[in-house]
Amino acid sequence: MKRILITGAAGFLGSHLCDRFLAERYFVIGMDNLITGDLKNIEHLFKEKNFEFYHHDITKFVHVPGNLDYILHFASPASPIDYLKIPIQTLKVGSLGTHNLLGLARVKKARILIASTSEIYGDPLIHPQTEEYYGNVNTIGPRGVYDEAKRFQESITMAYHTFHGVETRIVRIFNTYGPRMRLNDGRVIPAFIGQALRGEDLTVFGDGSQTRSFCYVSDQVEGIYRLLLSDYHLPVNIGNPDEITISNFAEEIIKLTGTKQKVIYKDLPVNDPMQRQPDITKAKEILGWTAKVKREEGMKLTYEYFKSLSPEELAKEEHKDFSKYIY
Ligand code: NAD
Ligand code: UDP
Repeated sequence: MKRILITGAAGFLGSHLCDRFLAERYFVIGMDNLITGDLKNIEHLFKEKNFEFYHHDITKFVHVPGNLDYILHFASPASPIDYLKIPIQTLKVGSLGTHNLLGLARVKKARILIASTSEIYGDPLIHPQTEEYYGNVNTIGPRGVYDEAKRFQESITMAYHTFHGVETRIVRIFNTYGPRMRLNDGRVIPAFIGQALRGEDLTVFGDGSQTRSFCYVSDQVEGIYRLLLSDYHLPVNIGNPDEITISNFAEEIIKLTGTKQKVIYKDLPVNDPMQRQPDITKAKEILGWTAKVKREEGMKLTYEYFKSLSPEELAKEEHKDFSKYIY
């Protein structure tokens, strides 16, 4: 039985990856410090004999007993609000944390896949974004802590590949959504659905003409699975190219939820990318992968999930108190 370590296991993507690899009959070791994740995302896995969980901060030395065949490195705050609240941790997990995991991959002779992001393209000047594009990032802007940590993460991963011969894979993930996103993480989908469910107006930032392209989680997991098992070590975009403006997306949410509330406009956050759409030619050619789930279908499933949350959970608007993690 193959053994795989998944960091960020209690988060949105990490928990779905744990499910997938258990279903593929791997022994799964989840690791998370719960800074933005929640054990309820993997509660159902603790009864599985092929699942173990370590509560650990990966910016500290990482020890895993026994052999490892694969590592999926998904630990990192991922929403703009999260990484604004915990900027130093965001930088540390992308740099020190990634360094620790590459060191672990090296000693275990494990193949490691790291979660990069469309944010490495910054506010892109080419459209759609291909893997060859170097990006347009403001290093000292509020998003710089995330974007630069992820860019460093890619560089150190390539260095371990070329210098130490570690088997590495790099996925550039474009906006992905689905059940188990945190209602209060500030990302646009939980934000709009939460507002609709609480009977609040939907907050569109800027004039809403900025675009995003949303990928349903099952498609994303399939792309990651194929990339891990492929023999391709350069970055690959995984995302759904179906692009929409944020104001049109707000209208879709109003239709989906039947809310009687209206859209209100707020200031556009600094350096908010104006357009984002993945070029997925590489994923198609190398992995035979394409996004299958239409936004209408994926959003229905996501809405069902958020509707099933308790009223107490829905009412929670405050973010977790992160101050105790600041050091
Ligand atoms: P998430 O916040 O739900 O999950 C991240 C997990 O990492 C959380 O459980 C958190 O507690 C854990 N974590 C953070 N710092 C840690 C540390 N120092 N030690 C151990 N665990 C730590 O976010 P997500 O959306 O599931 O994102 C997962 C990964 O995918 C991240 O690396 C993110 O950058 C990347 N990504 C996600 C998206 C997306 O649309 N969801 C897009 C691009 C990239
Ligand atoms: N956004 C919005 N209202 C919200 C939250 C987000 O209009 O309540 C916008 C945000 O400005 C951005 C887009 O939605 O243009 C996607 O934001 P998100 O935080 O989900 O992810 P990003 O792609 O910016 O990392």
